[in-house]
Amino acid sequence: MANLPLMITLTTVLIYLLPSCIKSSEIILPKSLNLTLLTDPSAISVASHDFGNITTVIPGGVICPSSPAEISRLLSYASNGERKFQVAARGQGHSLMGQAGVPDGVIINMTCLAGVVVSDDMKYADVAGGTLWVDVLKKTAEKGVSPVSWTDYLHVSVGGTLSNAGIGGEVFRNGPQISNVLELDVITGKGEMLACSPQLNSELFYGVLGGLGQFGIITRARIVLNHAPKRAKWFRMLYSDFTAFTKDQERLISMANDTGVDYLEGQLFMSNGVVDTSFFPQSDQSKIADLVKSHGIIYVLEVAKFYDDPTLPIIGQVVDMLTKTLSYLPGFISVHDVAYFDFLNRVKAEENKLRSLGLWEVPHPWLNLYVPKSQILDFHNGVVKDILLKQNSTSGLTLLYPSNRNKWDNRMSAMVTDEEDVVYIIGILQSATPQNVPEVESLNDSIIRVCKDSGIKIKQYLMHYTRKEDWVEHFGTKWSDFSKRKDLFDPKKLLSPGQDIF
Ligand code: FAD
Repeated sequence: MANLPLMITLTTVLIYLLPSCIKSSEIILPKSLNLTLLTDPSAISVASHDFGNITTVIPGGVICPSSPAEISRLLSYASNGERKFQVAARGQGHSLMGQAGVPDGVIINMTCLAGVVVSDDMKYADVAGGTLWVDVLKKTAEKGVSPVSWTDYLHVSVGGTLSNAGIGGEVFRNGPQISNVLELDVITGKGEMLACSPQLNSELFYGVLGGLGQFGIITRARIVLNHAPKRAKWFRMLYSDFTAFTKDQERLISMANDTGVDYLEGQLFMSNGVVDTSFFPQSDQSKIADLVKSHGIIYVLEVAKFYDDPTLPIIGQVVDMLTKTLSYLPGFISVHDVAYFDFLNRVKAEENKLRSLGLWEVPHPWLNLYVPKSQILDFHNGVVKDILLKQNSTSGLTLLYPSNRNKWDNRMSAMVTDEEDVVYIIGILQSATPQNVPEVESLNDSIIRVCKDSGIKIKQYLMHYTRKEDWVEHFGTKWSDFSKRKDLFDPKKLLSPGQDIF
């Protein structure tokens, strides 16, 4: 067997030396297309790897389109007659395993198509596919409105998250980002430019949402807006008992808008991992470290209630409810009062911190799962306690929080466990070194195996399968529609080949 750690080290060294030595295969575009194909080493290098920092996929060239019509020309040419090359839209390349890559093909740098137009009635915004969510927030909040569903991290593109699902702490109330889209402009694999919505070209609309870039390139999305609150009361509370923690989470997501919270997530502090207690007052930090040491795992319930006017009684009621009726460890609650923008953009501060420590551009063998509510205790015992906690060390963050299944629309391509009303969102977001990537990947494999062997009905999110049978199993009863839509909208199988589905 080849020396895997050595190969990975060499790959990583190569990635960072790439601008000077990377070689892409040659693509020649006819002059009549009037498109500029970038093939310089630095453009190729950027497009060759992603946030996962595990794979290298070298494209033949990169296009920075100045209009959707340019993408349409490229795809019409590529799909005409013999397949000439494949094409992948790339938002920020925040994928984990080369999903936005295209070997020897053309990368479309979607950040070249960015922009936000808020409608006169402020009920929606028309957003170009490459726009970052943080810029959608800035533009809409200027007018006092805002989208209603957010990913934890806002420096990802609208087209990229709508191709997956776009999940976070508002899903339980407002659904994932794909559930908050009114219409789309899409360029199919045949180069057709089509508007679509639930009423118009609905097959394309539902296919593209969560469709992993397989049916078309999103150049515009009409996103639902609502009032933008001014501030957030942002709480974290600690639990030592898993059942009390999940019971409180589930109760909070079942509450009505006015009395309930607007955002809910949860994370684990584990004694074999890094415990970031900085949200809590200095005076509590060593006590929390001791709690983690003595219990092995401490569960962190995180909620936010948005508000405009601090004198409104509702904020007082929520604070009262949280402090009186939840079963967190007495005294272990911390509340921050922050601007709405700063709350939503909170992960940027983490990014800056990690970048300054050289820990952002490291391999990220992340594992994201959905687990049905009835099996979350089995998952906790079989995976969190029996696998994660038994490692010598873990790095990164583990998220665990419930969401309401009825906020998802089954007609869309995105997959989530079907079984029950409440589904847990799990993120095992480990960082790695080039040397221990195989070790973390095999840990992830063992988590999936344990779930399968013990009958826990997981679905993966942001997954990367290389075997067709895994994709067929992933899509289950939707597989037949998914593959029919591929034949219909991208019959030459040009789009997003980095997903490894077709
Ligand atoms: P890319 O990685 O560039 O693309 C993803 C896929 O979509 C590729 O297959 C690509 O070809 C395709 N694609 C890109 N643009 C388009 C388009 N316009 N039309 C059609 N297909 C397109 N996700 C969540 O849901 N919730 C989170 O809380 C969350 N937190 C994150 C935190 C961090 C720090 C990071 C790095 C990622 C996080 N993600 C989260 C994952 C994120 O949603 C995905 O990485 C997603 O792919 C968006 O990233 P991107 O815009 O860079 O897309």
